[in-house]
Amino acid sequence: MDRVRPSAPQLAGLEPYDPKYLPARTLLSANENPLDVDARLRGEIMREVGALSFNRYPDPLANDLRDLIAQANGLAREQVLVGNGGDELLFNLALAWGGPGRTMLNLPPTFSVYAANARLTNTAVADVPRLPDFSADEDAVLARVAQGGIDYAVVTSPNNPTGNLAGEAFLERLLDATDALVVVDEAYFEFSGVTMAGALARHRNLCVLRTFSKAYSLAGVRMGYVLASAEVVRELVKVRQPYSVDAVSQAIARVVYANRAAFEAGVARIVSERERLFGGLGKLPGMTVFPSAANYLLVRMDAAAAPAPAPAGDAERAGRAWQWLYGRGVLVRDFSRTPLLEGCLRVSVGTPEENDALLAALRDFALNGE
Ligand SMILES: *Cc1c(COP(=O)(O)O)cnc(C)c1O
Repeated sequence: MDRVRPSAPQLAGLEPYDPKYLPARTLLSANENPLDVDARLRGEIMREVGALSFNRYPDPLANDLRDLIAQANGLAREQVLVGNGGDELLFNLALAWGGPGRTMLNLPPTFSVYAANARLTNTAVADVPRLPDFSADEDAVLARVAQGGIDYAVVTSPNNPTGNLAGEAFLERLLDATDALVVVDEAYFEFSGVTMAGALARHRNLCVLRTFSKAYSLAGVRMGYVLASAEVVRELVKVRQPYSVDAVSQAIARVVYANRAAFEAGVARIVSERERLFGGLGKLPGMTVFPSAANYLLVRMDAAAAPAPAPAGDAERAGRAWQWLYGRGVLVRDFSRTPLLEGCLRVSVGTPEENDALLAALRDFALNGE
């Protein structure tokens, strides 16, 4: 045949997710941990992986890992599910709680994967845009929920890419106001130290999402998990690919999770570097930096406040700043064309040396790059 039928209609015009990765000396675009798993743990991982049977299917539910995570959180195994990265679990949530005739509540600007999954699963999206400081428009969210028809909501805390936490009192009110599944995406929990996991006992409609990709330095391995009620986990198990979490990833994640205390010092260093970077960026002319509880900072290029006011708008100035940084070996993420993020770049917190390189290049841009 010299042609092929069109794919499913919801794919028309859909752009595949593009992390906009490019090779660079200083990688500050993907919120990864700048430090890889240390040599001691790598040794332990290699021994575990060396003892695996590659010819046998893995435990489909990764029960050993589930048990470790459940115990650490005071939950039962049935309240934990692991996935091939948090992203797979987000897709499973859309499969299980979305679908034709169903609606997801979204709080943009936020992680673009939620809306993409909704589209793939023919789920309608009810957007309640965030306020200018990127906090949730709490009254508008509660009003929308009161109208009914919301099947699931996703609230990111800290929000990506804006860095701010969702208020605990607001989340409690939301969980009480609706029987919709409320997903609290805590991909950056280890940096914020703030979690809704303690509310699981009170709310059967709560689902907390976590990942090994950020604090635990395993973005390359693909491992995420949810904490939820047993009935929520049961529904997710129905839609998941049985062997999506391979034996190698399970073994690596077991070692890392059992040794998670070894990551605390690195997380503390990243948090203190974040505050140093926040102070340094805040001093640069023509830029606004937003407070963050995660391992990244959102910076707005404010064309009007630039030393030599740029004739073009914020988005274009942000594009030039991105290019300037990239030309100096520093890769950051350009969000300047995302609605409500005009003029914004997101910079991940790296090692002190990487952060110094970013600060020096951005200072140079602020003073000489117009
Ligand atoms: C990174 C991230 C995830 C999950 O990433 P995985 O690498 O798929 O585990 C989920 N939500 C947000 C907001 C993230 O930034």
